Amino acid sequence: MRGLPLPPIGILLHSPPMKPPACPMCEMTDLLDLPERWECVTCGHEWEKEAAPEQARIVKDAHGNVLADGDCVILIKDLKLGGTQVLKGGSKSKPIRLVDGDHEIDCKVDGIAVALKACFVKKA
Ligand SMILES: [Zn+2]
Repeated sequence: MRGLPLPPIGILLHSPPMKPPACPMCEMTDLLDLPERWECVTCGHEWEKEAAPEQARIVKDAHGNVLADGDCVILIKDLKLGGTQVLKGGSKSKPIRLVDGDHEIDCKVDGIAVALKACFVKKA
């Protein structure tokens, strides 16, 4: 995610031409652009194209700050844990770990391992 603003209407943005890599064997750049691999015209070496990098997941706190693994967060409201346990708003977590799923933040608050929604915390 680059977060680039959309170009104004009437202007076409051309993406820069894909620059093929150099052959890892002979370092020449005369390459055949095959669907899933490169083939070096010079020495005939073939190798896999790199898969497009997975889009990094961006998790934002209640104020829109981007959270990363190892950040600490503060609860912005009381969160019920079920039963009678409540995590108090203002509690600070241990360093967090971002995980997939509905509750993006895996961390410990008050010594309790919890999964939190990013919208209920702010970056400490
Ligand atoms: Zn080559």
